[in-house]
Amino acid sequence: MTRILVVEDEPTLRQLLVENLVYEGYQVEAVSDGSPALAAHEGKRCDLIVLDLMLPTMDGFQVLKLLRERRDAVPVLMLTARGAELDRVQGLSLGADDYLVKPFSILELVARIKAILRRTRPLERPLVLRSGPFRFDLPQLLAWKEEKPLDLTPREFRILEILIHHPGRTLSRQELLLQAWESDARPTARTVDVHVAKLRKKLGEDDDHIWIATVGGEGYRWTTHVEPEG
Ligand code: CA
Repeated sequence: MTRILVVEDEPTLRQLLVENLVYEGYQVEAVSDGSPALAAHEGKRCDLIVLDLMLPTMDGFQVLKLLRERRDAVPVLMLTARGAELDRVQGLSLGADDYLVKPFSILELVARIKAILRRTRPLERPLVLRSGPFRFDLPQLLAWKEEKPLDLTPREFRILEILIHHPGRTLSRQELLLQAWESDARPTARTVDVHVAKLRKKLGEDDDHIWIATVGGEGYRWTTHVEPEG
C-alpha cells in the first residue's frame, strides 16, 4: 500500500488532506512540523511526502534539504501559501518533485500525487508479451510463433526485445548497437543489419507479413501491436 506523509501545521487543511488521501486508498500519516516529519519518515519510510513550506519550527525547505543531503530521493510535493516565484524556484532546486500554490483544489492535489508516483515508480514490465502470432517469454529468452518455438540466439532475442518494447517507433542502428551489444564489442551498423536479416528469416517474414520494417536510412521498427499476456 502506498504510504503518504502529510506535513501541514494548519489543522483544518491537514484534516482535509488526510481524509481525502485515505479516501483515495492511500495509507496516510500526518504531522504538523518538520522534525516530527523526519522522525516519522525515519521510523516508517513513506512513498511520498506532501510538505507544507511554512511550518512552526523547521520549515519545508529545511526538511527537503536534509532529506536530499541524506540522499533520500523520496518524492516531495511542496505546498506553498506565498506562491512567490522565489519559493517555487528554491523548492524545485532543492529537489522537490512538484509544488502547489494554496489555495488549491483537492482534485488537483490528488492528480499531482498520482502523476509524481507514476513518474517516480514506473510500472513493472510484464514478463510475457504477445504480438501478432508471436509470444515472448522475456526472462527465459524464449519466443514462439503460433506456439512453435523459434530458434533464436541470445543476441537476436535481445534485438527483438528492444524492438518490441517500442512498437511503432523507429530505432536507429546506433540505438540498437548501444542496447544490444556490450560497449567493448564495437560492432558496426552493418552488424546490426546482418543480425536483423537473420532474425527476419527466423520470424518467417514474407511480402505479406513484415514484422520488422526497414525505415529508409534510419533503422528498424516493430510493426505490430504488443500486449502483455494474461
Ligand atoms: Ca503552514
